[in-house]
Amino acid sequence: MAKPLVAVVGRPNVGKSTLFNAIVNKRISIVEDIPGVTRDRIYFDAEWLNREFTMIDTGGIEFITENSHVIPKMMRLQAELAIEEADVILFVTDVKTGVTEDDVKVANLLRRTKKPVVLAVNKVDSVKRDTLAIYEFYELGIGDPLPVSAGQALGLGDMLDQIIANFPEKDIHEEEDDAIKVAIIGKPNVGKSSLINKIL
Ligand code: GDP
Ligand code: MG
Repeated sequence: MAKPLVAVVGRPNVGKSTLFNAIVNKRISIVEDIPGVTRDRIYFDAEWLNREFTMIDTGGIEFITENSHVIPKMMRLQAELAIEEADVILFVTDVKTGVTEDDVKVANLLRRTKKPVVLAVNKVDSVKRDTLAIYEFYELGIGDPLPVSAGQALGLGDMLDQIIANFPEKDIHEEEDDAIKVAIIGKPNVGKSSLINKIL
């Protein structure tokens, strides 16, 4: 069965690609690594605390242009893709800019889905200096903002904990359910055991 899919969304320049790379370099093991259409890595398979998942940077689709008119359309596409496909959405924002109009637009889209959304506030490079600033991000109505620094690799473990805590439980049981059970019956001595041994 498919691994849980984590989609990273957020407007350009909040640090999605940096965060993506920081996670790749973390203690998680990379199973697969497929380069995308841009310089950016688009997705990878990883494992955190024995949970395997696939992570996709929807922002990696930013190959078009710096053209500011295209950006809102692009972000809408990212969010829709994430809402459609992901099991968990990682919404990345930027403490240096604070909450922007575009963040609010993305949040409005994401709030309409029942999918779990983890809200990361990136660029909190120093715990002392910026922790108060993250409270502003409660106004997005997404839940508790998690301070991270992709640049300094801070807060990534807590963020990954939150992400896997929101994975659907079903894959634990599915392995059992997928197996076809065959019973071999017959009177004694017809060769049931020999047959099973031959198959095995
Ligand atoms: P993306 O457009 O969302 O993929 O953002 P990028 O990953 O390309 O980063 C945009 C800019 O933010 C780059 O100049 C990064 O070096 C910078 N940046 C990313 N993460 C951090 C961080 O944790 N702290 C600081 N200070 N800068 C960061
Ligand atoms: Mg990027």
